[in-house]
Amino acid sequence: MPATALSTQHTVEQAKALAFRAVDFLLEHEVAPIPLSYGVAYEYLSGGSPELCRTLDEYLHSGRRIDAFVLRDLHERHLAVDRSTPLRSVGNDLQQLLGELTQNIEEAGRGAEEFGQALETTLGHLGHDADAQSLRIIATGLVSATQRARQRNEHLQQRLQVTLAESEKLKLELERHRREALIDPLTGLWNRRAMDNELDELMAIEPDAPLSLLMLDIDHFKRINDTHGHALGDAVLRHVAEAIRKCLRSEDHAVRYGGEEFLVLLPRTSLLEAAQVAENIRTRVASLRLRRRSDNLVLEPFTVSLGVASRKPGDTRDTLLRRTDRAMYRSKDAGRNRVSLDGDHGHAPGHA
Ligand code: GH3
Ligand code: MG
Ligand code: MG
Repeated sequence: MPATALSTQHTVEQAKALAFRAVDFLLEHEVAPIPLSYGVAYEYLSGGSPELCRTLDEYLHSGRRIDAFVLRDLHERHLAVDRSTPLRSVGNDLQQLLGELTQNIEEAGRGAEEFGQALETTLGHLGHDADAQSLRIIATGLVSATQRARQRNEHLQQRLQVTLAESEKLKLELERHRREALIDPLTGLWNRRAMDNELDELMAIEPDAPLSLLMLDIDHFKRINDTHGHALGDAVLRHVAEAIRKCLRSEDHAVRYGGEEFLVLLPRTSLLEAAQVAENIRTRVASLRLRRRSDNLVLEPFTVSLGVASRKPGDTRDTLLRRTDRAMYRSKDAGRNRVSLDGDHGHAPGHA
């Protein structure tokens, strides 16, 4: 379970009272008090996260029922913060490796210095008395100094090789963590965090290029879950993700934005081009015919509602997202299974 940012400190008595209320709250809404749901309820009732409170209040006021998925989504958006723990441990390992490398290099330096000193002393002796006896002693001294230096070098080389292999392993691990922190495990699409970064970057590096967003929400998804179970709901999410992916170019980015909501970033794409992509996705999803292997159940066709918006001068990430979201909700209000364009109160390019 991802760590949770609890923003309020309470006394034991206060926490106890909140704990009972949190469990009551969950049971009232027929949600099992599993730890993640409990954490969200606790934070909601304690008022520690204003954003979380506002979103959950809006959800409840809209008359929709909450469940473990909705709460997990809230947790993801407002409370989960500590994804960096594994990265931190990799960071510590890297630091240790760097320390070892520095030590190895210092040792190599010391070794070379000792060898140099041995040579100097020997050559000094050579200058004064060079009879056969002392030449032998000098030669023996030189041979053993050389041997010591060679042994030290071999040892250092082995240690350096181990260190390099270790650093290669850590590099791969770091890449894996970085990928996982940005990918939604169910659909393999980018998660919200990855999208935030990319959208900010796109808006910053291409301030004048057209940029469109597309928001998609599965229609009556709750019914699919309720009728056939969450496992089939999950399969539907994966198929929708795949249908979206198939309609995109390599430079577009599909994102699992929330439970059954998806967002697509369409760089260098006009509103009308984005509307066409949205329409392609809409028809592709509507034509999906899914069959469950275990019992051959054929799932009734389902649809999606989409909204499209393009960046306007002065837009920030949030204003653009908000307009895209609003366009999507217009599709819902107009009867679902359609595409709505921001600023255009009709629908485009076609709908069922
Ligand atoms: P609408 O047409 O208005 O969008 O209706 P809806 O039923 O699709 O929307 P609503 O927001 O009422 O329900 C969405 C449901 O999606 C709630 C939640 O149970 C479900 N859900 C969210 N995340 C997941 C998930 O990861 N897996 C599954 N199986 N269900 C999920
Ligand atoms: Mg939704
Ligand atoms: Mg929906």
